[in-house]
Amino acid sequence: MVNVELNKQAKLSPHLASPSEAALGHSSELDGSRLSPHFSLGELCKTSVNTLDGNIPSREDVENLKRLCPWLEELRERYNRQYVETRRQGVQGVQDNTEEEPIIITSGFRSPEVNKCVGGAYSSNHLTGCAVDIRCVGVEQAIRYAAILLDTADEWKQDYDELLIERNRHGRYWVHFAVRPKDNRRRTMFLNEK
Ligand SMILES: [Zn+2]
Repeated sequence: MVNVELNKQAKLSPHLASPSEAALGHSSELDGSRLSPHFSLGELCKTSVNTLDGNIPSREDVENLKRLCPWLEELRERYNRQYVETRRQGVQGVQDNTEEEPIIITSGFRSPEVNKCVGGAYSSNHLTGCAVDIRCVGVEQAIRYAAILLDTADEWKQDYDELLIERNRHGRYWVHFAVRPKDNRRRTMFLNEK
């Protein structure tokens, strides 16, 4: 196994053709891969832990990550339109579109080794690239993100597998959102770490 750090800079190849190439040692070429206008493969594979396996997704994992991107783009677009612009108008009395707020992914794909290190669930959707954790500055933002994702699911008539507002023991919030290729359960809840 090659130790490839996907954490910050490294992104998979522009063609996304073969993530398995990464495992074969082509990691230096794996740069700049966009899965959608605002999300790169590198962002969706970063981890807070360094493991020997390099946290390299398979082709299927990448397809699963790509399936999440339209949702994330929609979330970004709607959040900025509904909340950021409105807030600016309220504060300044003028519309200012110059700076959009990004959607920050703190965890996407996790290899079994990474998942174990971060204490992920045994059958976590992160293991197949079907889930992302979205950073939230607080519970209000988490609820707004969740509301947008729910509205999107209804409007698109598409189900998601999990929409969880999670809180750790330090009071930090994030939204865990998962879409599977099929058999999506629309599991929606708050999870509090004790
Ligand atoms: Zn998660």
